[in-house]
Formats: sequence, structure tokens, C-alpha cells
Amino acid sequence: MQYNLSCEQVTALLTFYVEDKLSAKLSNYVKEHLDKCPECREKFYQLQSILQRFNEIQNEEIENPYVTKQYEDFKSNLSAYVDNELDDLENIKIKKIAISNPLARQDLENIYTFKKLLHSSFEKTKNELKTDYSKSIVCQLQNECSDEKKLDPFIKITAIFFAMITCIVAGIISILYF
Ligand SMILES: [Zn+2]
Repeated sequence: MQYNLSCEQVTALLTFYVEDKLSAKLSNYVKEHLDKCPECREKFYQLQSILQRFNEIQNEEIENPYVTKQYEDFKSNLSAYVDNELDDLENIKIKKIAISNPLARQDLENIYTFKKLLHSSFEKTKNELKTDYSKSIVCQLQNECSDEKKLDPFIKITAIFFAMITCIVAGIISILYF
């Protein structure tokens, strides 16, 4: 049996096709279309090369020369170091790695930035609680927080979006299988 997919349908299925995630039947329909349609074939080649490049980048990261056994040890000790839980010798080791390894240095900077953000948001919450404690409790109990009202339209839009996606997917499936 043969089924002719439209270019729109093929475009919608193309990423799944490239990643080999379609059923054999669907995959064949796409292949048949690609054999006949130069426009879609061009899209297919582009997508394939993007994906290839993406995989290459991932492999390059794995082969990064700074990802050493020493660096792995550094990472497992990092939060203990920041929390002052290590002894002097281990502290010196961590500092040495941070100086010699740019990846480690970046990790250390990131964790300090993260802690700073965490601390400042904690301070902010603490101050808000001090000044507005009873009000925020009442607000939570009565479900009248302004934040929740702001959230409402966002949930609606998300629901509409998912409904649309479901309709499109259901449409494609019904065209192909019935
Ligand atoms: Zn086409």
C-alpha cells in the first residue's frame, strides 16, 4: 500500500525521521516522499547536517582534555569545599585544581554565584516576611495572592497551545492510519 504525504506532513515528521523514531510504515512514507520531492529532500539534508554537527559538539565536550580524574574528584568535593567542610590539605588541593584547570575555576565561580543568588533571595524573602508576614499568610489562605492571578492567563495559553498540538498530531495520525 502506498500513501502520499503532503510536504507539510513530511516537514512535521522530519525531525522524528532523522532521529529514526518513526514506525517502519511511517518512515517508508516519508522516504517515498523524499525520493520524489527535492524541496523536502533539501530540508532533510539540512536537518541531518545540523544533527551531525550537534553530535560532534557533544563528542568534543566528552573529549575535553580538562575532564580528568582530578577534575572529577574536584567536582565531588566542590560543595563541601564551599561549605567549609574539608580539612586544610583537601582545601589546598581544591585551590590548586581551580588555579590550573579552567573548567574547575568556572565551576567554582558558578557555585559561588549560585550561593550568592540563593543568599540574596533568602534575605529578600526574610525581609518580606518581616514586613508583610501576616498579610502574606492571609493572602495564601484566601488564595488571593496577586502572583496567582498573574499566573492564570499563562495557564490558559498553555492549555490552548497543548490542545492545538494534540489536534494536529491526532489529525496526522488519523490521516495515516484510517
Ligand atoms: Zn515535499
